[in-house]
Order: sequence, then structure tokens, then C-alpha cells
Amino acid sequence: MSLRPRGWVVVPAETERVARVVFPDGCPAVRMRDVLGPIFTDAEFADMFSRRGQPAISPALLALVSVLQYAEGLSDRQAAQAVRARIDWKYALGLELTDPGFDYSVLSEFRSRLITGGLEHRVLDAMLDAIRQAGLLKAGGRQRTDATHVLAAVRDLNRLQFVTETLRAALNMLAAAAPEWLAGVAEPEWFDRYSARSEDTRFPSRWAARTTHANQIGADGMTVLTEATATGAPSWLRELPAVELLRKIWIQQYQVTDGVVNWRDKKDLPPAAIRYCSPYDDQARTGTKRDASWNGYKVHLTETCEPDAPHLITQVATTPAPVPDMAMTASIHTSLAERDLLPDIHLVDAGYVDADLLIAAGRDHGIELLGPAKAATGWQATAGDGYTLTDFTIDWDNEQVTCPQGVESRSWKADRSQDGIPVVRVRFPSSACQSCLAREQCTRSRAGRRLTLRHRDQHEALQHARVEQQTEHWQQRYRHRAGIEGTIAQGIRSCGLRRSRYRGLDKTRLQHVLTSAGLNLNRLNAWWETAAFAPTRTSHFGVLRPVA
Ligand code: SF4
Repeated sequence: MSLRPRGWVVVPAETERVARVVFPDGCPAVRMRDVLGPIFTDAEFADMFSRRGQPAISPALLALVSVLQYAEGLSDRQAAQAVRARIDWKYALGLELTDPGFDYSVLSEFRSRLITGGLEHRVLDAMLDAIRQAGLLKAGGRQRTDATHVLAAVRDLNRLQFVTETLRAALNMLAAAAPEWLAGVAEPEWFDRYSARSEDTRFPSRWAARTTHANQIGADGMTVLTEATATGAPSWLRELPAVELLRKIWIQQYQVTDGVVNWRDKKDLPPAAIRYCSPYDDQARTGTKRDASWNGYKVHLTETCEPDAPHLITQVATTPAPVPDMAMTASIHTSLAERDLLPDIHLVDAGYVDADLLIAAGRDHGIELLGPAKAATGWQATAGDGYTLTDFTIDWDNEQVTCPQGVESRSWKADRSQDGIPVVRVRFPSSACQSCLAREQCTRSRAGRRLTLRHRDQHEALQHARVEQQTEHWQQRYRHRAGIEGTIAQGIRSCGLRRSRYRGLDKTRLQHVLTSAGLNLNRLNAWWETAAFAPTRTSHFGVLRPVA
């Protein structure tokens, strides 16, 4: 496909006349066109096309259709139908009323081109540029970030269903690609075991019988892998994606001992970050947050939150589910800096805050990272009157710590934590601790009290944050973070943010970029209609709360 760039697209006179008559007070698509113009240009997407070939449908037009589609939570078919049938869309897109539009499959192809060209973020970036040129967005001020879980577009399976479905997926692919080869390999019982979907299969209920069944599936899968890699088998068999995934999942789920295939014990499974959870989406992972767990991804949304401007999403990041929020703080700042959209104050919850990040945000970007630093851990912190780190006096220059009872530390040693973070390990003399009258408040170790300190600047940043966040002033400033929960709720309700439409991280990431652009359109429309924010609603019961 080649690109024949269109210039500035003017709304045809007849389309404008009819749109003004039908929507005398405007509507989201019409207002967007009137204020922001066409938003996208074909030249911005030129990298996606070759110099030769059939002329492609304007990518600028398809980008705008995608934004309108996600703003309304439409499927590809519904969006293509809207291009054909809706006057407000024709006005926004600058199309004649008689324009027949395009086949819905064009939208899927357009998204694939965006992903292949690594241009997933271009749609949101171009939209933000247009909004900025309209004077509705600027750097500085406050922004806030939060994340929510996203369910992969696959079924949730228990472990036995998962291994059964993995082998079934491989057999189905092999049956389509090499039916004669598979007919020579498949055992007669396999047709009973693997013809139906795993959730339609009745598995044994007792644990021992389930383990035996899982071992049988393991042995069947191993037969497939052995035969597919045997001399004489076509070499491309082992390169089929489902066969390759079968091999990887079998490594994670089974171990071979003396030639016998055994289901791994749960505690021998690899960590969630690398463990597969579906044969149909090999990038989905299992995430856990408090008592909830899910298979899929996590999306981080960052939005502006000034009282005198629309609240707009400026940055969106999608990760596999187990990636901790803290791992995204720095990359969110870098991404905002690259687009000249850095805030002065970044409001986040405790998951995004760490000593390093508090320092780096200010040092690298001039941002105040405003979020609660995690409280001190350990039984001393929860005991109420226990001696925590704040009760000790640290002399950094002389590498000496003095405890609340006036005893000086015995050793000061640089080390690394379990996570690889540089720390200092401090020990107090066991003789002093054993005879100490305050011992019950301080240590349960017979060897004396031990402390683990971060490096000086990190330690001081953390202690300062812990003190600061207790003040009324800090809490007044921090309460502006809560609004991001409403943005996430809006994304889930109106744009289907909770569930991935597609399989794979790249496609899910693009979905979230388009969802963010769609949410921005909805936010802008609300702003153009009222230029004010609705107050937080209080329930009928909440209104009855007695005044303190
Ligand atoms: S137990 Fe040891 S470190 Fe703790 S207060 Fe007593 S002497 Fe100091």
C-alpha cells in the first residue's frame, strides 16, 4: 500500500449545511472538528506505507475514525457503519454526505500498521498537540496517575484446564498445517481427550486422580514435541507458534525424571512475571493485588487535574499484569518530558513512591512526586511503642548509629538488599542488647539489634516524606489525586477499558492509547458544554451523616 497524502481537508459545503441544521447546538464530533480542526495529517503516518502499491485510505481519516470509535465504545463494524450513516461523523471527517465509507476490516489493518510501524502513541500525541494549539493544555501544574487491571481476551482456566487447552491448541494447529503427519502420531484416546474445549471436559475431582490425569496430558504433549523434533519430521513443524508455545509451557509445567513426565508442584512453578497463563495470549500474565488476581495486563493513566482546564489524559502505559507500579514512575516522567508535558506536581498513590523515585523526580525533571511513602515495616512499627528507625540517631559522616538507650553501633557495612538495592547494614553489640532494659521494645534477636539503612540521601528523603505526609497541608494537597479513580471508572464504563479487545501486549497497548484519545474527546466535549466540573456526588444515606 502507498500513501497519497491529503492536505487540509475542508468540510464539504452540503455536509456542513446539513450538520448545522441537524445539530444546531453542536454534538461531540461537530464540536471537536470546529475547535480542533482535522487533528491528524496523512504526513504524520507516512512511515507506515511503502512508496509503491495501491493507494491506501487516508490514515489521518482512519485515526480520527478510531478516536470517535473508542470514544463511543464501538466495534469495527459499528464504526464503519457510523462513517457511512452519521452526519456528525461525516462532518468531523470532512466527507461528502454521499461518501460510502470503507469496509470495517480496514480499521483492523490500520491498527496493525500502527503497531508494525511502532506508531501506537502517535494518535494520542497528535491529538494532544491539537488540544495544546487550541489553548486547552499546557505543561506544568498538577497531574495524577493511577493504574487498573485489564483482563486478557482469553478464558480463565485452572491449571489442569490450562495444560489440556495448551496441548489442544497445538493439536488443532498441527491438524490444520500437517494433517497427515498428525494422523500418524496421534493415539486413538487423544480424540476423546482433546477434541472438546477443556472447560467442556469433565476432569477427575480427587486430587490424586487429577494429578494422574495431568501427568497423562504431560506425556501426550511430550510425545507431540518429540515427534515434531524427530529426524524425518518437517523442520517447520517445530516452528509453528502453537508447538513452540507448547514446548515453553511444558518446561514451566512439567519436569522429566528418569524418563517419566511429572506435573510440577505448585511451588516449583516459575514466577508470575514469566509464567504463561493462556495458550492463546502468550504475553498475558497473572497479576495479584491484595485478594484479587487476574490474567492479563495493567494500564497506567496519567491526567491533568487543574481546576480551570479540562482534565485530559497525557500519558498511557500498558504492562504485563505483574509489573509493579513503582517500575513505571520513571518511564512515565520520561515520556511526559519527551512531549514537553511534564507537570510541576505529580500525584500518585503509595505504589509509585520510593526513596529513589522521590529524589530522581526532582533531580531529573524538576517534579515534586507527591504520594505517601510506605510506612516503616517490622514488628517494632506495628507494636506502637517499639523502637523504629526514626528513634535512632545516625551520624553519616562517622558511620555510627546511636540507639535510644545511648548505645553506639558495633558495625557499619555496605551491602545490597534482596532486590539489589544498595543498603547499609548496621549491628549493635549483642552484649549491650542482651542486658538492655528496653530490649522488649527493640529486638527479639539474641544477637542484638540490626538495622538496614538506605543511602543517606534516600534515607533522608524517605524520612522527610514520612513526616511531611502527616501534616494537614500535605493531605490537603494530596486529596486532588482521588479524581483519577473517576477517570478510570469512566474508561471502564464508556470505553471498555477493563477488558482487552485483542490478544497480545502490543494490540492491548494500542487499544489503551485509542481509549485515552477517546476519553479525551469525551472530556473535551463535557468541558465545551459546561466549562465546569460536577461536584462529587453524595449518596442519599451519606447526606444523613451527623455533623461532627
Ligand atoms: S536493645 Fe540494643 S539497640 Fe535496642 S535500645 Fe537496647 S541497647 Fe539499644
